[in-house]
Amino acid sequence: MAQTDQNPRIAGLLNQETRDTLRSVLSHCWENFRFYRRRFEASGVNLTDIETADPVTILQKLPLLESADLSDLSTEVAATADSVIDVETSSGTTGQRKVRYISYEDDQREHEFLAELWAIAGVGSADRVACLDTDPVNLMVSIAKAFDLLGVAEAYCLSAGANFAHTVRAIKKLAPTVLVSVPSIIERYLFQADWPQSNNERPSFSKVIYIGESMPAATRRALENAGVEVFGYYGASETSALGIECSAHQGIHVIQSRNIVELLPDVDDPTQSAAVITTLNQWAQPLLRYRLGDKVQEVPAPCPCGLPDPRLIVQGKPDESISILGSKIGYGSLKTSAYRHDSQSGPLQVVVSRTTIEVLDLVLPDTIKSNEKEVRKSVLSAEPDLAFLIDSGFTKLSITFVSPEHFVSDRKFKPIIDLRA
Ligand SMILES: [Zn+2]
Repeated sequence: MAQTDQNPRIAGLLNQETRDTLRSVLSHCWENFRFYRRRFEASGVNLTDIETADPVTILQKLPLLESADLSDLSTEVAATADSVIDVETSSGTTGQRKVRYISYEDDQREHEFLAELWAIAGVGSADRVACLDTDPVNLMVSIAKAFDLLGVAEAYCLSAGANFAHTVRAIKKLAPTVLVSVPSIIERYLFQADWPQSNNERPSFSKVIYIGESMPAATRRALENAGVEVFGYYGASETSALGIECSAHQGIHVIQSRNIVELLPDVDDPTQSAAVITTLNQWAQPLLRYRLGDKVQEVPAPCPCGLPDPRLIVQGKPDESISILGSKIGYGSLKTSAYRHDSQSGPLQVVVSRTTIEVLDLVLPDTIKSNEKEVRKSVLSAEPDLAFLIDSGFTKLSITFVSPEHFVSDRKFKPIIDLRA
């Protein structure tokens, strides 16, 4: 682990109301979860401390909660909770399945919070919102419901099916003013829509809110060049919603009345921190000091938009890189290199396997097949470590072109598949 004995610090300033909510959450954890009672006691905290001492000081006495600890907590919740209505699970590229139980009240609070976030992105009553996903049953329904709660003109879910040309036509016909989707689907849409290819056409929407993955810079540029304002949404399956990018477009505001964020500096690179989250919104399965794993960078306050909540630039999970014989190769960097010769970015899947040597296979849409040589050259010049491994015969780089359908057929599309384990 790169991080260590350093103590995390609270990002931004907590107001009295947030401190009071934190105290209630701490009491709730003491009273209702053996899992947390044990952690309090092991840290020398008793109920009187929770009721009378500074809640932030109490919180910071607790050890960090790691993802490996989550299964003990969710097992207890499963056995004892009586008001659970929903379960959110995630697999991740590595490690065990994470489970989050949600009560009816949690769900309501979540919708109110999402509506708050959409308002920060400037969505209002005149907007018509399209939520586009390959299988819009779960998250997107929640997201669309929150737009309704905000009071927009209309909000609906659109399913991006196997026939993507149909989806492109539907968007043109429905003419939403706001598009909510996942970057890899947005890229797919940009490939096929008319307006990115035309100089004088513009899309009907003036805002894109993206969820689920980080958006490559080239994709953001393609949208911004057409006059579309881009907003990144930030959330995790373990914590639920955390924040959103504001109109200043310098980082994501993590809304402290809903989640407290602490920053644990990285020892190797002090400009980077790990995000540590305490949820104030999730009472069925609260998280106290959960190390999210995302690498973040704090943007100095104040923000021109006027919001007091701290801003983070989210670099994503460290597992968004591939380790080959000790060399770390970033997924984002591979993607940028693969599309360097195109006007816009597109999807990429990286498959790592081991035969007699390590094989790194870049899976790309066959629409850029004619660029194969350029892709290879661009990747090798951007990744000298990889070039070295290939020259020395330790690694082989292969490129596989597939139908673009491959990238949107599965909502839980995995950008990195590691077959070496
Ligand atoms: Zn702001």
